[in-house]
Amino acid sequence: MLLDLVHSTDVDGQLRQSGFPSVHPNALPPNWKEISEREFTESAFFIYSPSAVEFKQAQLIPNGPLENINMFYVYGYAEGFAMIADREAGRVRYFRFAECEHDWQDITTYQFLHTIRCRKCLETRSFDTSD
Ligand SMILES: [Zn+2]
Repeated sequence: MLLDLVHSTDVDGQLRQSGFPSVHPNALPPNWKEISEREFTESAFFIYSPSAVEFKQAQLIPNGPLENINMFYVYGYAEGFAMIADREAGRVRYFRFAECEHDWQDITTYQFLHTIRCRKCLETRSFDTSD
């Protein structure tokens, strides 16, 4: 899928409509967590097209320097991944964020359709496992 990036002045409004909490342009999104390169390679970043991209500058630690952050939202705006160039170390640092740290419960009802539901936010996802 080839995505046409449309610059919008109302992305924050779209995020709020989706239920994603509004954060200050220089603040980190909820449930921000650094992940390893291995976790990133196995993530949904490589399965789905991003719903939105965002560039922001934020501090990773209080009173730390502002970092340039490229963010990619997936599953609508529910969660996403971010990358920061660590120029001193010559490497990329990977992060994930989400409106909910899902606590999945298997509620499969059909043999070939695997369904899970989050105990916290009740989001439901189904996968055709064909097994
Ligand atoms: Zn959840």
